[in-house]
Amino acid sequence: MTAQSLADDYLSGGQLRSLPEGHFIDGKPTPASNRKMQSFDPGLAEPFAEFSLGSAQDLDHAIDAAERAARHWRQVTPAERCRVLNNVARLFRENADRLSVIEVVDSGKTLSEASGDVQASARLFEYYAGAADKLDGRSVNLGPEQTAFTVREPVGVTGHIIPWNYPTSTFARGVAPALAAGCSVVAKPAETTPFTALVMAELLSEAGVPDGLVNVVTGLGTDVGAMMARDPRIKQLTFTGSVSTGVNVAQIAAPNVTRLTLELGGKSPLIAFEDADPGKVADGAYWAIFSNSGQICSAGSRLVLHSSLRDEVLALLTKRAARIKLGHGLSHPDMGAINSDLHLSRIQGHVEAARARGANILTGGHVTTDTRTGKGWFFEPTVIADLSPNDPAVQEEIFGPVLSVQTFDTEEEAIGLANGTDFGLISSVYTRDVGRAMRVAGAMDCGQVSINDYWAGGLELPFGGNKKSGYGREKGWEGLDAYTKVKSITISNAS
Ligand code: NAD
Repeated sequence: MTAQSLADDYLSGGQLRSLPEGHFIDGKPTPASNRKMQSFDPGLAEPFAEFSLGSAQDLDHAIDAAERAARHWRQVTPAERCRVLNNVARLFRENADRLSVIEVVDSGKTLSEASGDVQASARLFEYYAGAADKLDGRSVNLGPEQTAFTVREPVGVTGHIIPWNYPTSTFARGVAPALAAGCSVVAKPAETTPFTALVMAELLSEAGVPDGLVNVVTGLGTDVGAMMARDPRIKQLTFTGSVSTGVNVAQIAAPNVTRLTLELGGKSPLIAFEDADPGKVADGAYWAIFSNSGQICSAGSRLVLHSSLRDEVLALLTKRAARIKLGHGLSHPDMGAINSDLHLSRIQGHVEAARARGANILTGGHVTTDTRTGKGWFFEPTVIADLSPNDPAVQEEIFGPVLSVQTFDTEEEAIGLANGTDFGLISSVYTRDVGRAMRVAGAMDCGQVSINDYWAGGLELPFGGNKKSGYGREKGWEGLDAYTKVKSITISNAS
């Protein structure tokens, strides 16, 4: 069935077909205990399925299987790993319609966003398939007395704690390099988006990934996630989510000195100087904050505008924001739902607090529903202007379709405002002056800077944060570092 026919079937009251049940452990769907939790469709604010709450026993079984599989996989030739990962990419593409529709119903995003995520997931497997047979060490010159070289070895069992905003592509961006490097995987999807990781694990198995190499245990973060962070058999933990949970995970993992990659969100600025084209700035800011309903760690949630551009850019932006059609992700809206009622109330809390402080809310600012059905968890696209640097709407990650606007007059002031939060994930600079663009890019305390564009780059580029946005890099060649250990070997040449 095509994505459209699956969507039509579901929206006309049908069930989502062939949703996985239980966990996926040791190469097969694994029945779980009777402890279950409902999964909600955010576009309707109604439950559509149940998933299993994993236990300590389920996790133990998964880590055991992953330990066994890691011992085998590290001996498999790089060329064979490469072949298997390419098969995964092919199967993701062949199953893209089913995966995308499940992702929409589970997460609330739009079908075009979910399809983009699935294609990106396939590309991640393809990219790291190409890396599997190129993980070389280097030869080091220590003089005639010794021969010295390095090798990159797999770290072993890796744990992946996945967020709800990009369930498919965050799974892929951790699992693909881990497998390429010769590691095994235990993954825990977020409790509001458990299904696509299970479907992907089934497809990995069908593609030839050996039993036990990729295991998925669903359940609560405070339960399964915390147990993963505590388990000494997991040698690398890749976590994406909030700062507070990331800090908690780091504390739990510290006694075992577990390697960590933390991707913890941001408050990323789009800085526009007086020579920038106002239309391009408004367009960049629109996509930067309203893509995926603003639920993106690297969303452009702050617009840092030269005061001479303020009125024109904000007029263009608010006019367009007010016309955004909100709706169920399968009904082709401009913007989808907020992932959970809990998160919707967090967004509302941030905006209500700003309103109570007397904030200048230019458009939006309220909880709403899908106008077609009167249902669902939605928040109006919102622009809040003229904020001071210390305002909570500038400092705190809202993680929704809420743009905070600040203005400046000098380059120095712009740099100060842009760097003036605890976060440092990405930044973007709009100017026609190349010298200024490079000066500002150099001054940004963050992991990625785009010039005259917001969503620039691709999975070939490393991605990750500075400051409280976390540490470690995913994607690109650097994304392999977390999953390999460098060993130096020397040979004495003495006769
Ligand atoms: P969260 O950090 O609580 O959840 C992220 C993941 O961590 C989920 O899989 C969850 O099950 C797991 N988890 C939760 N508690 C855990 C624990 N004690 N030990 C181990 N794992 C645990 O995030 P949330 O509550 O879903 O969202 C809250 C905020 O997190 C958002 O407002 C946003 O700021 C941020 N967030 C950021 C990203 C990102 O891409 N960086 C993604 C999702 C959420």
